[in-house]
Amino acid sequence: MASILVTGGAGFLGSHLCERLLADGHGVVCVDNFYTSDRHNVAHLLDHPGFELLRHDITQPLFVEVDQVYNLACPASPVHYQRDPVMTVRTNVLGTINMLGLARRTNARILQASTSEVYGDPEVHPQPEGYWGRVNPIGPRSCYDEGKRCAETLFFDYHRQHGLDIKVARIFNTYGPRMQRDDGRVVSNFICQALEGAPLTLYGDGEQTRSFCYVDDMVEALVRLMDSESGFTGPCNLGNPEQVTVRELAERVLALTGSDSEIVHRPMPKDDPLQRRPVIDLARERLGWEPHVRLGEGLARTVEFFRAS
Ligand code: NAD
Ligand code: UDP
Repeated sequence: MASILVTGGAGFLGSHLCERLLADGHGVVCVDNFYTSDRHNVAHLLDHPGFELLRHDITQPLFVEVDQVYNLACPASPVHYQRDPVMTVRTNVLGTINMLGLARRTNARILQASTSEVYGDPEVHPQPEGYWGRVNPIGPRSCYDEGKRCAETLFFDYHRQHGLDIKVARIFNTYGPRMQRDDGRVVSNFICQALEGAPLTLYGDGEQTRSFCYVDDMVEALVRLMDSESGFTGPCNLGNPEQVTVRELAERVLALTGSDSEIVHRPMPKDDPLQRRPVIDLARERLGWEPHVRLGEGLARTVEFFRAS
């Protein structure tokens, strides 16, 4: 049984990951400042003997003894990360340095939750790990995109300079139960709008594409990457290559919920990537992983979650 730190552990992805690690018999230290979450997501874990919840901001140093670190702390939806962009950069740079320092001191293996946003608005499609991306360094999304790029740089510098055992996951759009209803991401927006009978807000012409991965598949991938052979650092794309336009997503949500909401157009946000789809050959080869939950099934489970809550 390992002792595992999960930063951002009370968030959407983090709470599912904590659950999984506890089920595997590990001890979990969940660290979160509740910037985009609350205790509710991990309330069912609080009585578990292997679970410890610490309210802490990773931009401040942290001293705990662990064997592994999953660094997930960072607001992830555009609405959240643009609310206080300087804080987003601080979390990605200062926070990452603190967690790398912790891993170095305790000789722990550390995994970074990086993102497909490092590819920006890509000219290469679909995106393999070797593509360096096309990111606007001064736009409204830059605090997140460049913050995450810098975090990757720090990971590889700690690896080269200090021999740290690192893993870098490039996570593509992930969805499922416990997404926040007000975080502005497209899956939660459309489902909540459809269930409330409100118009579905389609940004631009809706022809932009995304590839959505169900949370259970993503957690499996993260655990496999963390436990992969020593020396395999990534970066490794993790996501579901099943690509849809945002318009198709809206139509599927309407069909699944039986809602008669209309679709209304809103302006396309600045620097919104037009296409995004992962090449996951590396994950298939090195982790023996590929996603299993099809979009229709994952959306149905997510609709059930929002209906119940
Ligand atoms: P989320 O907003 O639900 O979770 C992030 C968590 O980090 C929240 O609980 C938040 O309170 C916490 N946090 C933020 N700043 C912090 C700080 N300074 N100190 C401590 N805690 C802090 O988002 P999520 O979707 O669960 O994303 C988790 C991670 O995965 C993020 O790093 C995100 O960038 C990455 N990621 C997610 C997706 C996705 O589609 N969900 C895609 C790519 C990358
Ligand atoms: N989007 C949309 N309506 C919404 C929210 C988002 O059409 O109510 C679009 C958004 O412009 C983007 C896509 O859906 O093209 C995915 O947006 P999200 O914020 O979920 O993720 P990201 O842009 O970070 O991939």
